[in-house]
Amino acid sequence: MPLLHKIAAVVIVCAVILGLTLPGERNRPGPGNAAARAGATSGAKPVAPPTASGPPSTPAAPGPSTASPTPSATPSATAPAVLPTAAPAAAQAKADELGEIPVLMYHRIMKKADLSLDRSTKELRDELERLAREGYVPITAAEFASGRFNVPAGAHPVVLTFDDSTPGHFALDERGEPAPDTAVAIIQEVARRHPGFRPVATFYLNEDLFGLGDRAAAGLKWLIDHGYEIANHTSTHADLSRMSKKQVQKEIGGIEDKIVSLTGRHTATFAYPFGAIPDKRAWAQKQDGRYDFQAVFLAGWKPSQSPFDKDFDRFAVTRVRSEGKIKENECTKFCSTAWLDHLAKHPGERYTSDGDPETITVPRAAEKRLAKEFRPRARVY
Ligand SMILES: [Zn+2]
Repeated sequence: MPLLHKIAAVVIVCAVILGLTLPGERNRPGPGNAAARAGATSGAKPVAPPTASGPPSTPAAPGPSTASPTPSATPSATAPAVLPTAAPAAAQAKADELGEIPVLMYHRIMKKADLSLDRSTKELRDELERLAREGYVPITAAEFASGRFNVPAGAHPVVLTFDDSTPGHFALDERGEPAPDTAVAIIQEVARRHPGFRPVATFYLNEDLFGLGDRAAAGLKWLIDHGYEIANHTSTHADLSRMSKKQVQKEIGGIEDKIVSLTGRHTATFAYPFGAIPDKRAWAQKQDGRYDFQAVFLAGWKPSQSPFDKDFDRFAVTRVRSEGKIKENECTKFCSTAWLDHLAKHPGERYTSDGDPETITVPRAAEKRLAKEFRPRARVY
């Protein structure tokens, strides 16, 4: 276990023990809400092992009519006792599909950052440029959860997530193109400069859809048509840890109904507002006929395990807050610049693709960490 992870684990445990109550993501900076702003899990409900929805390694059932592929191993294949040898090109690329994947978490994108979680347009552009230079290729949260994503050999997947559907994320100009300096325009711009940097991201929506008003349906259609993922973040950015089952379902189902009515399709992933988990995780994961997520995302504050890792919990995926190495909230260690520095320095910890979405290539030494259901697709070297 790398040192940073140990520290992260210790800090999270301490936060839980101390019973830190975490204020909202939108709060101004101030003493006492460090963990929330760094994107820690909610102090109200520490992350618990799944109890209500079966064993953690059971792949989720497909959503009522989600467009995303079903997360799975090939159901008919039987797991070989001895794994086949990896393609030479995969070994040469030092593929390790059990490495960690950064899931970056952004909030408001502003010309000039104002509140603590904001990032400026320049900071977003600089971070995306860095990702492109360092061989990261964006995939959506749904692709990540599906376990099938197309990233070239030697490259590293990264998931870009934007919470709260604020106007700085997306708008269309008069020509029907992303308005300048929105997050989407900046992603498209970086992708034009760096062929291979896929312009995709996941947007976790609340009921105010980017301030688009009556252009919301057209806006969501543009995003979906261009490969962006529309996902669920509750109607009112509710703290689900304080809610009954009925209230949780109303919050998640409400925005889901709205998205379905505007786009004709269901969402595939969900992110907890404030990282706050309800009394029973199952309430947030599924309501028959209304929503059924393939993965659920927390707030912070470390890169995610590979979806093929036996310890991966698809209903508690960790994310990393986008921020420089500022002192606040221990961003010197736990925010995006620190983690990207760490992964650059320790490339062996990072997910490196074998270039084939069908196979899962792992170094022999890591084989024991592979989840059983993925053995039929695995190759070793
Ligand atoms: Zn949020």
